[in-house]
Amino acid sequence: MLRAHTIRLNPTHEQEVYFRKAAGTARFVFNWALARWMDYRAARQQISMNDLKTEFNRIKGERFPWIYDVTKCVAEREFSNLGRALANYFRMKGTGMLANPHLAQAVSDASLAEIARQMTYKANWYGGMVQLVDSFYPSSKMCNACGAIKADLTLSERQWTCTTCGARLERDLNAARNIRDEALRLVTASR
Ligand SMILES: [Zn+2]
Repeated sequence: MLRAHTIRLNPTHEQEVYFRKAAGTARFVFNWALARWMDYRAARQQISMNDLKTEFNRIKGERFPWIYDVTKCVAEREFSNLGRALANYFRMKGTGMLANPHLAQAVSDASLAEIARQMTYKANWYGGMVQLVDSFYPSSKMCNACGAIKADLTLSERQWTCTTCGARLERDLNAARNIRDEALRLVTASR
């Protein structure tokens, strides 16, 4: 059984400012480290979280002097958080691709369901909404400009030209636009 505890904090104004700074700093450091890690990966190099931290510490004084406004534990912890996030990500990918494709599907369905649950929860919290789109919706294969379907699109084709309307399509951007349009259509249809 899972239990959740809610702890209510009653910070003074100064404390609240500090919390916000600390949260902003944590987010910044995590995003910085992830972006650098992806730079290295794009260059087919591996970098450890420790080396990333060293790199960060070398430049932070000059480039991010506000980092000293909050305890250095905040920045340090984000490197272990990123390390753990990456390890989990690759463990899931590894389980799926090497060991058992059915398990991989279950894991990815479960994590997608969890992501959907959290997004819905947070959207409600902020007064927004989440519209899910059917996973069989042909978001990648459909040309966002004219709606033509390229049935033989392979995973390795990152970009292609629509043979119907001649639009030059970039795979991820085209899929994102199709998903956005489909979500808007569903939202409109349900009202
Ligand atoms: Zn087209």
